[in-house]
Parts: sequence; structure tokens; C-alpha cells
Amino acid sequence: MTTDAVALGGFVHTIDGRAVAGGAAFDVINPATGAVFARCPEGTREHLEAAVAAARRAFPEWGARSFADRRAVLARFAEAVSAGAEELAGILVKEQGKTIAECRKELSSVARQVERLTAIEVGREVLGDTPSRRVELAYRPLGVVGIITPWNVPIGIAVGRIAQALYTGNTAILKPSPYTPLATLRMGEIAAAVLPPGVLNVLAGGDAFGGWMTAHPGIDKISFTGSVPTGKKVLAGAAANLKRVTLELGGNDPAIVLDDVDPDAVAEPIYRAAFANCGQICVAIKRLYVPESMYERMCEALARIARSVKIGDGADETVGMGPIQNRMQYERVKGILEDTRRRGARIVAGGGMPDLGGYFMEPTIVADIADDARLVEEEPFGPILPVLKYTDVDDAVRRANDTRYGLSGSVWTNDLERGAEVAARLEVGTASVNRHGLPDARTPFGGAKESGLGREYSALGLKSYMEAQVVNVSPLA
Ligand code: NAD
Repeated sequence: MTTDAVALGGFVHTIDGRAVAGGAAFDVINPATGAVFARCPEGTREHLEAAVAAARRAFPEWGARSFADRRAVLARFAEAVSAGAEELAGILVKEQGKTIAECRKELSSVARQVERLTAIEVGREVLGDTPSRRVELAYRPLGVVGIITPWNVPIGIAVGRIAQALYTGNTAILKPSPYTPLATLRMGEIAAAVLPPGVLNVLAGGDAFGGWMTAHPGIDKISFTGSVPTGKKVLAGAAANLKRVTLELGGNDPAIVLDDVDPDAVAEPIYRAAFANCGQICVAIKRLYVPESMYERMCEALARIARSVKIGDGADETVGMGPIQNRMQYERVKGILEDTRRRGARIVAGGGMPDLGGYFMEPTIVADIADDARLVEEEPFGPILPVLKYTDVDDAVRRANDTRYGLSGSVWTNDLERGAEVAARLEVGTASVNRHGLPDARTPFGGAKESGLGREYSALGLKSYMEAQVVNVSPLA
């Protein structure tokens, strides 16, 4: 790889396999301190034009390769990123704020995702075969895929999209969130050493840059992961050239505990599913429905765990939960907490926003809160969980479904048959019993209702990076 410009603070875009530094730059803040710790090059329209041109140039050769060949190249990509995992985790912990253990876990998903996705065959299907007509369904790559990612799981989400786009024969342009651009930029540099030039271009930029990508006629598909309001803008922008669009958006996931479980036995996995990454996971449990008969015991079991968690800078190996990722999100969650207090709900644990220099909030368990409170109706995306009382399962299901979101949901019980029956009634993309969310590259992942459009992962997801083409072959009459 050659460097044809001076890197800004060491971070560069990767365009056409080369390191490119931007003219302008923006600050990147460490959420554990609230202070700027790095500068990031800011992509311009000219950078985007160069990236689109490079991706289009690379497409014919890359798209014509066999799946086996692309699988082998992607395995080298995964190997190179995994070899750089410790460096990338060190950048991630500073820009994202999650604990170093969570950063390492995110990096360890890279090889697994690539391996699982590239093990899936998306071959031709024979739809009919008679002497007069043979009909096959083939899948062709789309061309250039634009990948836009959020700030909560920058590397994990990007790698899933890269693997799908590239394995199916497309080339790609990836733009991370301006809050967490650095580990992704560094990954782009690592990728440039193993991928042909132009196959993967990685550029940092603000929200406007995402808009330029969405509207660009040289980009054939957008894979977007982020909030519902931005997802709607992406869909509208993509209409310009009828781009294919996959939207992975927000959630307000319900979990329903049935009356046969011991609250102490389920508190730990439920807590983890709600508070991992400081509650900033699209498929985190965000509303917990608990039978009246065990309500206090469940609240207390969760509260005990919450009180035991050490919060602080995620780079400190002894810390159990890092800060909220950015000031805007911190203010939003703070507003939701204030609204919760104003309504007279009971804070069973947490509720503090300690002044440790960054955007910190204690893991907070809330009881006795109305269904129309902001904490229940909105996606808080922070370390705060409402525990809601119910007496009748049908009522719990109705309330769980009473939302415009529909990402995932779960039911917790020893009675697996009953659990599966209740889970199936949840209006969500992924319904689980005794586990929650946990996207897996082998199964389709996506949202019902306003939580998304289309599916990522599995053969279903891979096919969304391709155009279906019917091929009819008949003998001359
Ligand atoms: P966001 O929508 O603010 O930003 C996401 C990305 O979109 C960023 O890269 C941003 O720069 C870009 N962007 C902003 N405006 C744009 C525009 N007009 N056109 C194109 N791109 C634009 O989301 P966020 O705050 O970074 O992420 C948090 C949200 O993401 C939460 O709602 C969370 O639930 C959701 N999320 C969903 C999934 C999923 O798989 N369903 C996964 C992770 C996060």
C-alpha cells in the first residue's frame, strides 16, 4: 500500500487500495473523559467520487470471480483483521467507550461472521426442467454497495455487511459513524493489504456524507444500520435511482417472564441482555414484563446485579460497564430518566449520573412505571430498564406488541412449548425463548414494522445483495 498524502493523526480513508488523508478533519471524543483524543479526516464529495469510480472499476473482475475464490480472499481479510484485533480493540475502547472485554468480543466475531457467511451457497436454482423449457433462477451481484454504520458496534456491524457484499460479488464503500470512525478506518487500511484495489473503500464523514452516498447514482444498494428517522431519510434518498435498500433500525424489545420461573435464575441473562454495551444494542431488552406474583423478587434480583457493577473507563480491565457513547445520547437518556422521575416511578437501583469526567450513568432498574411513559414508549438506548407488571399473559403480549418497533423479543420460562407459543405471537423479526436477540450470520436478521426493511445474514440476506434473474432455455420451435 502506498501513502499519497499525509495522514491526519494517523487515520486515513482507504480509496482504491490507497491511504488518503482528507483536507478537513473533525474531532473524535473519548466518552469516558468527554475530551477530544483524535482527529479524523473528513471525506468530501470528491473523495466519494473517487471511491465510487474505484469501486466501479474493480467490480467487473471481482464480480466475475467464483464464490470459492472470494471466500478465500475474505478468509485472508478476516485473518488480517483478527491479527490486528488488539490494536483495533485499543482504538475502539477509546472512541466507543464499551469495556475492553466487549471490544475484544466484538473483534472476535470477525472471523466467525466471515466464516459463517461465506459457507453459505447461493447457487442457481432449477425452477423447471421439461423438454420444452428449462428454467433457472440465477443471482447476479448488484454492483457497488454503500454501507452506512452506527456507533454502537462499529466493527461487528461493518464486517457482517462487508462479508455479505463482497462474497456475493459486489464492491463496497463503507462509511462509519462520525462518533466512532477510527477503528473502522484502521480496518480499511488492514483490508487494503489483502483485497484487490477498489473492492473495499472506507471513508469517514458526517451525516451529510451518508446522504451523498444514498443519493449517488453510482451506488446500487445501501445497507444501512442506524436509527428509524435516519432510515426513513435513506429510503427516500435511495428512491432517486431505485437503489436496493436494507434497513436495520432501532428496537424497543420486549421480554416476557412467565410465571413458572425462579427470578434469581433468569435475572443474570436478562440483565446481560439489557445492559451489555451500556444498553446501547439494537436488540437489547428494553421492556421487561413480569407477573405480579414475582414482581418484587424480579426487580430486586436485577437491582442486586445492577448495584454490583463497577462503572468507569472501559479501558480499565476491572470496569463492568462503560459510559454512554456520546453527549447527545447522554442528554437524551438523562431526559428520559428525568421524565421517569417526574412521573413518580420507583428507581429500584441506580438513577445516578456520577461525575467521572465522561458520560456516565449507573445501571438503572425502574419499577411501577406507566405504559405511556417515555421510558416505555421510546427506545432509550442507554443503561435503564423498565420492569412492567402483568397479571394475564395475553395482556402482556398485547402490551409488548403495542409499539411501532418490531426488532426482537423473548419469553423466559421452563415450559419450552408454552414459551415458543407465546414467543410466536410477538410481532418481531426474531422471537426467542430463554435468550434474547443475538444475531447469528447463519439466520436471517431484521426488523418487523418500523424496525427495518429486509433481512441481513443467511441465504436470505445474501440474496438481498444480488439481483434475481430468471434464465429460460427452450429449443427452437
Ligand atoms: P443514526 O441513524 O444517527 O446514524 C447511523 C449512520 O447514519 C451514521 O453513520 C450517520 O452518519 C449516518 N447518517 C446520518 N444521517 C444520514 C442521512 N441523512 N443519510 C444517510 N446516512 C446518514 O444512528 P446512530 O445513533 O448512529 O445509531 C443508533 C441507532 O442504531 C439505534 O436506534 C439502534 O437501535 C440502531 N441500530 C440498529 C441495529 C440493527 O441491526 N437493527 C444495529 C445497531 C444499531
